[in-house]
Amino acid sequence: ELQELHCIGCGATIQTEDPQALGFAPASSLNREDIICKRCYRLKHYNEVQDVSLTDDDFLRILNGLGDKKGLIVMLVDIFDFDGSWLPGLQRFVGNNPILLLGNKVDLLPHSMKRPPLMNWMRGRAKELGMKPVEVDLISSLRDGDLDPILKKVEKLRKGGDVYVVGCTNVGKSTFINRVIHEVSGEKDVITTSHFPGTTLDIIEIPLDDGSMLVDTPGIINHHQMAHVVTDKTLKAITPKKEIKPVSYQLNEEQTLFFGGLARLDYISGGRRSLTCYLPNSIKIHRTKLEKADDLYANHLGDLLQPPFADDVATFPKLVAQEFHVKTKMDIVFSGLGWVTLEEGAHVKAWVPENVNVTIRRTIM
Ligand code: GDP
Repeated sequence: ELQELHCIGCGATIQTEDPQALGFAPASSLNREDIICKRCYRLKHYNEVQDVSLTDDDFLRILNGLGDKKGLIVMLVDIFDFDGSWLPGLQRFVGNNPILLLGNKVDLLPHSMKRPPLMNWMRGRAKELGMKPVEVDLISSLRDGDLDPILKKVEKLRKGGDVYVVGCTNVGKSTFINRVIHEVSGEKDVITTSHFPGTTLDIIEIPLDDGSMLVDTPGIINHHQMAHVVTDKTLKAITPKKEIKPVSYQLNEEQTLFFGGLARLDYISGGRRSLTCYLPNSIKIHRTKLEKADDLYANHLGDLLQPPFADDVATFPKLVAQEFHVKTKMDIVFSGLGWVTLEEGAHVKAWVPENVNVTIRRTIM
């Protein structure tokens, strides 16, 4: 009879199928006496956390648990994909616990964007999405140097209590936590599996000075992000690495912009105008006449229009469209890709791969 195996670090049930899910261990490691999952292994030997993604049900279970605890909730969003990286319903689950909302990857935004209006915008958007954070702030987990003010803020807000870090996958939660580990522990060896005994299934606890914990919860997969419909190679190519440079286009009515082959914007009516694209520099923008757009896409996806690359075309979902009438200055957001800012009076059709979100919002600029 087959016996269920458990990780000696976190207690998760060991599985050998999905490296991204909880409790993964390579099959070759199963004949050892003490079995440790890949995630705990990396934590133990490299002081490095790895994001583990969960099903929606598991995630709700953890969120529900947060309501019973007392502590500060730190929610990370990707400032470059704010709505796409949102955790809907979080406010409801966390009870009376204060939320600190951190917009990560601020290094990607154009330097011309000033922090105070940006933070105001975050507060406003959070409110529209049903959350009332006690404070908001901006951070780059990749860039050295700006973690200190954030840690001070966390210290002030947690009032001696525990800190729970939540966020969906790809917001940079692991990068953030790993920075915190280095900052908090200083020495390399402080984090070992003994600091998080086999009682907690899904979370990693990092001890803080006073006996409280900083708790890393698993990230939930947000299925409407571009990241989940493209291959790893394409994802790598479209993940912005440095500051986004806005590019403006003068468009006539009935012209189309292709963003590689990943998305498309038809400018239908509203007179000759300029619109501004905020996309990773690696995505080539291709302009054409609306009447030629369908044919161009059918014949040149994967070569002229890339990414996706030629080998990915077969599995790339078809594009579907949504229409928008822009009443005041707004952003059309292609989740996980970027956005286009439009002034009032524009009528556009925005195309994204099936199941990826395209939304309209008050402009972030
Ligand atoms: P997680 O899934 O939330 O744990 O996200 P990761 O920490 O694995 O990060 C996802 C991607 O975002 C990686 O490619 C990181 O290098 C990148 N990333 C994380 N933080 C930042 C940041 O502050 N700025 C930028 N530009 N990229 C970041």
